[in-house]
Amino acid sequence: MTEAPRFETPITPPARVTGWAGDRATPGGGSELPVFYPATGQQISVLVEDDAASVDVAVSVARRAFDTGPWPGLSTAERIAVLERCGQVIRDNADELARLECAATGLLLRELKERHMARAAYNFRFFADFISQRAGDRYDQTPGYLTTVVREPVGVAALIAPWNAPVALATMKIAAALAFGNTCVLKPSEQTPLALARLVALLQEVLPEGVLTLVNGRGPVTGAALVAHPGVDLVSFTGGTETGRAIMSAAGQRLVPCTMELGGKSANVIFASADAERALDGALLGIFSNNGQQCLAGSRILVERSIYDDFVGRFVDRTQRIRVGDPTLAETELGPLASRPHMTRVLSYVDTAHADGGTLLTGGARRNDLGDGYFVTPTAVSVPSNAARTAQDEIFGPFATFLPFDTAEEAVAIANDTQFGLVSYVWSDHLPTVMTMTERLRSGVVWVNTPMMRELRAPFGGYKNSGVGREGGAACEAFYTEEKTVTLPKIPPPLRRLGDTGG
Ligand code: NDP
Repeated sequence: MTEAPRFETPITPPARVTGWAGDRATPGGGSELPVFYPATGQQISVLVEDDAASVDVAVSVARRAFDTGPWPGLSTAERIAVLERCGQVIRDNADELARLECAATGLLLRELKERHMARAAYNFRFFADFISQRAGDRYDQTPGYLTTVVREPVGVAALIAPWNAPVALATMKIAAALAFGNTCVLKPSEQTPLALARLVALLQEVLPEGVLTLVNGRGPVTGAALVAHPGVDLVSFTGGTETGRAIMSAAGQRLVPCTMELGGKSANVIFASADAERALDGALLGIFSNNGQQCLAGSRILVERSIYDDFVGRFVDRTQRIRVGDPTLAETELGPLASRPHMTRVLSYVDTAHADGGTLLTGGARRNDLGDGYFVTPTAVSVPSNAARTAQDEIFGPFATFLPFDTAEEAVAIANDTQFGLVSYVWSDHLPTVMTMTERLRSGVVWVNTPMMRELRAPFGGYKNSGVGREGGAACEAFYTEEKTVTLPKIPPPLRRLGDTGG
């Protein structure tokens, strides 16, 4: 019997990770939580949880920085300069940040360096560019009067991030909130705090004190205390639909605005009129990128019946060749899942598919030969109808569900038959088909003949249970600012004089 490989941790993380408020660590006060390396299942660090009192410290620091600090009142040019330095700090430390991210998430180190950290730096650059070009509105329809509309920061932003792409997703929120003059309290997922803790420490060096604070811990403890805190003025959340519901209810009690970037079960619709090779590449990337853990995964693959058997056969063949293993190696294509409970849940969907009359096409097993890490074989099933739970539930793993269709009409009906509406993919070189699909698919984004391609100026977000609100250039501006209308007479005209009876 051959021994399972021992994967080296990509970096030795700090033994203990704490939150951060102003010029010191938060008091913590909660439980001590283990952080695991998903490729080995070994504990690599301890997270000190922030209890409600500790959250209060972090929010109070951010509150003070907003109410009395320089940040909200800086000129646009000054703020742009700081944002550009933030981007540079990420570029300068990309290797360390990528290794810390890899250590807690098991995501591929190569991808983290080339895509996630590059995107994180670009998020700051993007919002620096964006605010450099914004102007206020001016109206003068009422004779003699001038009205201007200015946008002001809202206040203290609670930013809550998930575990599947912590730095890439959190920096979108941090950069946007800061660009429009807010101060922030960031709460990463308790599973993946390492890179974000280091990032916050690095950003402290270029940001005014208290502008960005950090709290750590479990959602129902630290996250709930943050959302309920009276010092928080808005909440930006990315995570699961059920958590989003709970957070929005809590925020609603205080009438605090929220954006919700939630789950998905996106249809990847492949027509016989598509470039079949490109569609195959796109379908594989759509479900197996980011270790299969992405909100915008094309996890329901709908294929026109005339090419169904051939397409599925070639998809299975390529899937079986995907290199699963050590996330630090350049040749690896699929790393471990993020946690043991998540691995168990993903694999449980093989039984679910069988119970619903489906067929396992490939995968569906743990890779025991890779040791105690959370490795699984990339998986595909076919199901008899879109009612099957593997076609309805967000599995959030390397798990594709196949269904055939006969007409565009039927493809639209299947694609839209879901509680979600985050993104859709269409593969066809027939323009009328493409136009029909883009008009009728009920999702916030439709990608045609391409896997995910995020344009930061454009709004990103979901229909139905995939979210509320949008992220992206102008959408972020609308969310992270208050509009103020100021009206004044150009040359003060005489006013009606109430109570002036001339006596
Ligand atoms: P969760 O909803 O479990 O958690 C997201 C974040 O919310 C974590 O930081 C979590 O903390 C925190 N949280 C949990 N409960 C509460 C609460 N009651 N109050 C405040 N905060 C809370 O999502 P996952 O981390 O499991 O991420 C996966 C989900 O995220 C998937 O559904 C995926 O589709 C979605 N997602 C959506 C994206 C989009 O842009 N639409 C992008 C990426 C992911 P902790 O983990 O520490 O408990």
